[in-house]
Amino acid sequence: MDFLTLQAPNPGPLTLEGTNTYVVEGTVVDPGSNRERHLEAILAAAGRVERIVLTHHHPDHAAGARRLSELSGASVLAFGTELSDGYRVGELVAVHTPGHSPDHLCFWHPESRTLLSGDLIAGEGSILIAPPEGDLQAYVDSLERVRALAPSRILPGHGPEVQDAKAKIEEYLTHRREREAQVVAALRSGASSVKEIVEAAYADVPLVKRRYAELSAQAHLEKLNHRISQD
Ligand SMILES: [Zn+2]
Repeated sequence: MDFLTLQAPNPGPLTLEGTNTYVVEGTVVDPGSNRERHLEAILAAAGRVERIVLTHHHPDHAAGARRLSELSGASVLAFGTELSDGYRVGELVAVHTPGHSPDHLCFWHPESRTLLSGDLIAGEGSILIAPPEGDLQAYVDSLERVRALAPSRILPGHGPEVQDAKAKIEEYLTHRREREAQVVAALRSGASSVKEIVEAAYADVPLVKRRYAELSAQAHLEKLNHRISQD
């Protein structure tokens, strides 16, 4: 089974080198950005596109879907339209994994034990959980769900292939547990605003990413069911 990888030309702080588009036996997973050059490359690599599936609706994954559908004649399948948990699409099985977004799906290839993880797990760094759309408790539950599948490798929406899937999922769960402990410690020592929590619990995050840290801190506070001033 061949998984072809094409990188969309949309690099950035959250997309890393760009969104990964995967092609698996006629199924295109996440066409990425709506750039003709990228869509042409997908068509050339795929030969025949039978269907286009989306891990979630964010534009860095989904913006090219309509145009690729026009070019190929294939229909677009996503959570809430044609797909739900456990649905088969070609050789893949959809796994509902909310948290980063409510509609998030991973795609599981049982034969090779490969997980196409979308924005549940990245090849490098961590995933932004930004309320109100992001839900950290759902996200942790989704990580535990894919851990139970025991994948042998992960093909992420951003960044390089993960060959030690078990270690990566453990690393992700540990990271969230440690961050939660830091947020709880900050609250116990008197932090009374999101800014103060970020200063105390996200000291390792570079200043340019402070906005993401604030969103992440809010996600932790929601998970802890703790209300606090937003300034
Ligand atoms: Zn996303």
